[in-house]
Amino acid sequence: RGSAPAAPTLAADKVQWLNYDPKELLPGIVHVGVGNFHRSHFAAYMNDLFNDPTLFESQKMWGIIGSSARPGSSKKRDLLQEQDWLQTLVAQDGESSKASVLGCMIDYTIIDYDNLDANPKPLNELVADPNIKLVSLTITEGGYFMKNVEEGDKDSSLLDTENPQIQHDIKNPDRPETVFGILVRGLKKRKEEGHAPFTIVCCDNIPSNGDVTKKVTVELASQMYPDSGLAEWIQSEGAFPNSMVDRITPALTDDMINFVKKEYGIEDAAPVFCEPFCQWVMEDEFVNGERPAFDKCESVMIVDDVHPYELMKIRVLNGGHASLCYPSALLGLKYVHNAMEHPVVSAFLDKLERTEIVPTVPPVPEIDVAEYWGIIAERFSNPTINDTIERNCFDGSSRQPKFIAPVIASALSKVGSEDCVNGLALVSAMWCRYCQGTTESGDVIVPNAPNWDKLQSTAMKAKDDPCAWIDGNLDVYGAGGIAQNSIFRKAFEKALTAIQEKGVEAAMKDYIEN
Ligand code: NAD
Repeated sequence: RGSAPAAPTLAADKVQWLNYDPKELLPGIVHVGVGNFHRSHFAAYMNDLFNDPTLFESQKMWGIIGSSARPGSSKKRDLLQEQDWLQTLVAQDGESSKASVLGCMIDYTIIDYDNLDANPKPLNELVADPNIKLVSLTITEGGYFMKNVEEGDKDSSLLDTENPQIQHDIKNPDRPETVFGILVRGLKKRKEEGHAPFTIVCCDNIPSNGDVTKKVTVELASQMYPDSGLAEWIQSEGAFPNSMVDRITPALTDDMINFVKKEYGIEDAAPVFCEPFCQWVMEDEFVNGERPAFDKCESVMIVDDVHPYELMKIRVLNGGHASLCYPSALLGLKYVHNAMEHPVVSAFLDKLERTEIVPTVPPVPEIDVAEYWGIIAERFSNPTINDTIERNCFDGSSRQPKFIAPVIASALSKVGSEDCVNGLALVSAMWCRYCQGTTESGDVIVPNAPNWDKLQSTAMKAKDDPCAWIDGNLDVYGAGGIAQNSIFRKAFEKALTAIQEKGVEAAMKDYIEN
């Protein structure tokens, strides 16, 4: 086969250049939402496969066509086209930076109903092309148009059919505008032309992401094309693997563009920075079993059931963020890595994870959850990510019921001893103290939740009557009998009293030492 294009001389010694010629790739994947995460994760795995000369021939039909279903996306296309679709990926921690060039995206397409014969085909036509075997998505949670459905309720419908964009697609099935409308229209054409559907791989951070994607697609199909049998066909012939994706990838800044230029001599208007850690746990559910050789990728795990991995990540990683953020904010720390450098916050988190969070995680095949916590602690300490405490503190009423309350319920039901939730109660009390609206040094905390006023007034009541916090936040503590549990109430009361009397640092020290 032809050799890879020559590397620019300035960068050659520090950057992993392409070991393949992107011109030899054939389109097999459409990715919708070419943001930062797709490029640090899925694209990076595909690039590794193509770089392997023993795999290139068997994998070259999996070239990626990037795309967007959003207005204004032709700007992104023009910017990437200007650099022949090549992009720089920089994986960094405190000690090293490793740069590589990504060449796996070979074109970019957008929605266009007026130029159906354009090259490349517009997104709306391309997804009907039988050579496209896989459509992947990183379109953020908002792209799924989900209604609020009680957790565990598998029967009720999920798609928000009242949403004006979804309404538009239902009323205009030949010119849909949402990602799902376009995919459904493409699937309809494939069915009519006797082709198999494409597999849809959701790479968004949504629990049971494949199941959610399937439900939304099938429900929209039944609304856009009722009585056509399309929804039933997608339900039975389609494939929507659940997966757990993980690689912290911050938003692009000018500093990053400048770093790539200075360090590697590369002029890249859209580089991607991320941490070295990368993980993808996925179920092997693909139409006709056709998929890239993910099994050959380092750090991809193909499993029968993703849910244990997902639960581990939610409890240990997201629960860790949700636990360290409030003490850190009260102590005036700015970033997650600053929290990990703080001797009391990091010791608090370590004890909490080891003794209260990790023991509630059911066994995960091939993974030692305690070791997993060790890896997460290292990742939190990475000084190049600059994940802000403020971001992690945002909207506690949404995060605490997902990441902390189920751990409390699980610890109480499993262990149930007097001190089994002392650390988790302290997390809850530190959230309450944060919502009182000032840091330990007296600085005012800028409102940081959509329901801030309610949170603040409940937190103020709790100054004299600690359990008013629990009783005033039944949306957080109502499930699993936590609010009524005397062990939790007692532990919470003790924790908030200690914080108010001695300060947050002393309250954490009490916990660490006892
Ligand atoms: P980003 O802002 O760089 O990219 C988001 C992409 O989603 C853009 O291409 C945007 O056009 C598209 N998009 C947003 N709303 C949409 C909508 N309603 N319809 C269609 N497209 C829409 O963000 P990112 O860092 O790439 O993260 C994207 C998603 O990836 C996250 O929401 C999360 O689910 C998942 N993820 C991110 C990380 C991370 O660290 N960044 C880690 C794991 C998973």
